[in-house]
Amino acid sequence: MILMNDFKAESAQLRDAMLDAVRRVLDSGWYILGQEVLNFEKSWADCCGVNHGIGVGNGMDALEISLRALNIGPGDEVITTPMTAFATVLAIIRAGASPVLADIDPETALMSLESAKRCLSPNTKAVVLVHLYGQMRDMDRWAQFCEENHLSLIEDCAQAHCASWRGKMAGSFGEAGAYSFYPTKNLGAFGDAGMVVTNDTKLAERARLLRNYGQSERYHHDHVGLNTRLDEVHAAMLLVKINFLSEYIIRRRNVANIYKKEIFSDKVQMLAAPQEDNSHVYHLFVVKCKERDLLQKKLLFSSVQSLIHYPIPVHKQKPCLSLKRDPKGLMHSERHANICISLPCHPQMTDRDVGVVVEAVNSFRGA
Ligand SMILES: *Cc1c(COP(=O)(O)O)cnc(C)c1O
Repeated sequence: MILMNDFKAESAQLRDAMLDAVRRVLDSGWYILGQEVLNFEKSWADCCGVNHGIGVGNGMDALEISLRALNIGPGDEVITTPMTAFATVLAIIRAGASPVLADIDPETALMSLESAKRCLSPNTKAVVLVHLYGQMRDMDRWAQFCEENHLSLIEDCAQAHCASWRGKMAGSFGEAGAYSFYPTKNLGAFGDAGMVVTNDTKLAERARLLRNYGQSERYHHDHVGLNTRLDEVHAAMLLVKINFLSEYIIRRRNVANIYKKEIFSDKVQMLAAPQEDNSHVYHLFVVKCKERDLLQKKLLFSSVQSLIHYPIPVHKQKPCLSLKRDPKGLMHSERHANICISLPCHPQMTDRDVGVVVEAVNSFRGA
C-alpha cells in the first residue's frame, strides 16, 4: 500500500539520531520547558527568519495564544476560511472572538481576498490566513489589506513549514505565525507540539506567560492562561529532524513536479501552479475530480491511499452552523469539499511509488 505518510520508512540515520536525543533528555532529568525547548525555539525562529519562538503544546493552541497575546477576544471578529482544519476556527472561538468565514478562490482553495473584503465590519480585528496545503500566495496583497483596515495578520503555518514568498518565510509576514508539529506535518513531532513565531517582543512575552498558566514569575498569575507547554523530548527530537527538513521539502516538490508532468486525465484537474517554486511546500498534493469518490475507490484498488482535505467545510460543522460569513455565501468552499482529493506526496515515496500513483490516476475512466 502506498500510504499518505510512511514514518516507518524514515532513514536509520534519523532514527538513531533521535534515539540519542531521547536518551539525552532522559539523562538530563528535566522534561518540560528546559534547554532543549529553548534550543528548538531558537532554531525554529531562525528557520522562519524571526526573533522569537514560543514552544506550545500544539498548533491550535499556537493560534489561540497568538490571538490572545494580541488582545483579540470577546466582541472581536476574525476573518478566516472554512476550507481548513477545524482547529483554525476552533482556536478563534476558544480565544472568545467571533470567526467570520470568507470563501475560497476555486483555483487554489486559499481564502479569497475579494470575499474577505465582503466580510469586513467595524468589529473586524484580525485575519487568520491559512497557507493551505503548503501554499503561500499574494502576501503583499494580504499585508496591504490588513494594513489598510488596521487588522492584525496571523498566519496559520501548520501546513507551510519552509514555504517562502519573495524570500520571506511563512510566519514572518504577520504579527504572529502559528506552527503545528503534529506528526503528519512537514516537520512532525512524535506526539503533539506547536510554536508561535513572532518579531514582536511584547507579543512573545505575553505568549510565554499564556502558555504557562499566565504565570509571570513563579506563583504569580497575572493572566487567565493555559497549560500548553512543549515537552523536552519533542523539542530534542524536532531539533534532530530540522536537519532533514530541507531535503524532505525538496523531495515533496520533486514528487509534486512528477505528478504535474505525468498526470494526464480529463477526469482530473490540478490546482493553480504556485507563484514561485519556494512558495509551495506540498504538505498535500490536492487535485479536483468530479467523480472523486469513484477515483478514491479506484486508487485503493491500485493500493494507493488517499484522503480528503476537507470533506466538510467548517460552516457545515455543528458548532459553526450560524457563524457569520461572506454575504454572498461560501459556494466555492462547498464545491471544493465535494471534489478535492489528496494524493500521497511525502519524502519517503520512491520513484516507483510515484509511478504507481500516476498510472492509477491516468487509467481512471470514471463511471
Ligand atoms: C494541523 C492543523 C492545525 C492544528 O494543529 P494541531 O497541532 O493539530 O493542533 C491548524 N491549522 C491547520 C491548517 C492544520 O493543518
